[in-house]
Amino acid sequence: MKTEKNTHHPELSNQYRASDDRNTDYLTIASADAERLRRAKIQMRRKKQRKRKRIVLSGIALCLVLLAALLLSHFGRRNADEGTHPGTDTTQNSSMSELPAGWSWQQMTEKDLSRGTLVLVNRDHAYDPELPQTVSVFDKKTQSYFVKDKILSLREDTADALNQWMDAFAAESGKTDVNIVAGWRSYEDQVYLYQNAVDSKGQAHADAYLALPGCSEHHTGLAVDLDTYNIEDGTSGGFDGEDAYAWAVEHAWEYGFIQRYPPEKSGITGIDYESWHFRYVGIPHAYIMQTQNLCLEEYLDYLRKYPFSGEHLTVSCLGASYELYYCPKDQVAVPASDSYTISGNNVDGYIVTVPKP
Ligand SMILES: [Zn+2]
Repeated sequence: MKTEKNTHHPELSNQYRASDDRNTDYLTIASADAERLRRAKIQMRRKKQRKRKRIVLSGIALCLVLLAALLLSHFGRRNADEGTHPGTDTTQNSSMSELPAGWSWQQMTEKDLSRGTLVLVNRDHAYDPELPQTVSVFDKKTQSYFVKDKILSLREDTADALNQWMDAFAAESGKTDVNIVAGWRSYEDQVYLYQNAVDSKGQAHADAYLALPGCSEHHTGLAVDLDTYNIEDGTSGGFDGEDAYAWAVEHAWEYGFIQRYPPEKSGITGIDYESWHFRYVGIPHAYIMQTQNLCLEEYLDYLRKYPFSGEHLTVSCLGASYELYYCPKDQVAVPASDSYTISGNNVDGYIVTVPKP
């Protein structure tokens, strides 16, 4: 029992001393019963002390468990947010915190991956036709060309560029008979066109010239089909891009357009040559694709060789200079001071284009 009377706990030590004192006073009547009573009291006190200790320890343990649960739910939610809004967090990812001065992370959403002039849409990469905001070409157009009807629509940047392209072509050739016969297309429109082609010309023809519903570039509002219109008899002359119309094809890039399905790229694009189908990608992308003979699939691969973390691509065309680089979708870095444009590629990342002085 002596070992119990330690001085680490003054309160306990005093109680034991009181018991000892009593033993001294009543030494003569000390008996086995008194000793048992004394021991029982001591045991009871120790029991109470152990109980208090257990309650305190249980309380601490409970607090720790609650704290751990709180932390887990907090970080779990942050990770989920990063999935939905890639590139938003600069503290969770160690590689993202190493931005050089003058650059900052840009917050993007999942839908942003399908926004911009460089989205890739083909049989492997579908597109949501409801995504683009479009304007009526009829309402915006100049007098340099025709449009099939008042409903036909395009993205506004594409419609503006089309005006400039057709104005230049008309000024150069004196021709104003180009007819725009296709622009933005809904999913239902594509279902109808595809099925119509299968029914009238067979499956092989439909697959060669028409994208599956959801996989048409026309869903983006960035693609136009050109035709020619004979104002004398209202007939269509087609658009082969030759003779008087060759100028329009050769100079399309100057207005941000590319001929999307050239004959030598059908193995990559999956679509046979379409002399009439043009796609707006903007400047300087159309210039690079034109001069390096790259279709959109190849161009997006090419840009992946210029990641933000590596050497950037610099290009000069039409009197202006640009810096370009690729960012994976969860790490989009942008210059803090300069103006820039970001386009998703509808696959795995973004292309940032920075005009340079
Ligand atoms: Zn087309």
